[in-house]
Amino acid sequence: MSEPTLRLSGIAKTYNAGRENEVQVLRGASLTLPPGEVTALVAPSGAGKSTLLHIAGLLDVPDAGRVEIGGQDMTGAGDRARTRTRRREVGFVYQFHHLLPEFSALENVVLPQLAEGMAKPEAEARARRLLDSVGVADRADHRPAALSGGEQQRVAFCRALANAPRLLLADEPTGNLDPATSDRVFGALMALVRETGLAALIATHNLELAARMDRRLRLDDGRVVPA
Ligand code: ADP
Repeated sequence: MSEPTLRLSGIAKTYNAGRENEVQVLRGASLTLPPGEVTALVAPSGAGKSTLLHIAGLLDVPDAGRVEIGGQDMTGAGDRARTRTRRREVGFVYQFHHLLPEFSALENVVLPQLAEGMAKPEAEARARRLLDSVGVADRADHRPAALSGGEQQRVAFCRALANAPRLLLADEPTGNLDPATSDRVFGALMALVRETGLAALIATHNLELAARMDRRLRLDDGRVVPA
């Protein structure tokens, strides 16, 4: 079996430890994500989905437990190594797209590549390919405000994938879209995962969408269990 793209082992996270408003969000959460699969993370609001995604994506540090990305143990890594791995290996998509409003769709997908040292012609070619793969190539020159919600979210997926990460983390990525649009965004994502061997972990409330993913996990009292 190929090496997991993400392995979380025994992750614990408590906010406001020792204070009266202490929240033990994660209590030994473990999961592995193989390449080329989309896994749903289903749990009610407040269960700790965002906390888990932030820890998996090296945006936050757990109190205990181990985070491995592509077989590399990031547990004791310093800020620079964490930032480097995050930029190269991890793409994020949020409920609201967070695209840069003053740049076109194309530029939003080009800029992260330039930041990683890609030459502009190659970055633009890759951005156009990505936009084309999710059906928004004809919107490349529009700014986000001129795009529909579904188009914006598809551009946000392209931006997350701009530097060809091996891990995609998405937090309620279709949460503010109507069913038909969320269906289209999801279909585009599945095609990309199959094509690139990406591993995706998608937090969602949408049980119908979750049912179409390869695997479903749930957060139960701070631990990850099959859904
Ligand atoms: P979900 O994404 O499933 O809605 P979160 O991971 O956002 O859950 O939050 C889990 C719990 O941790 C919630 O009770 C939330 O209020 C609390 N929480 C999240 N972030 C912080 C923080 N920075 N400080 C204190 N409490 C937090």
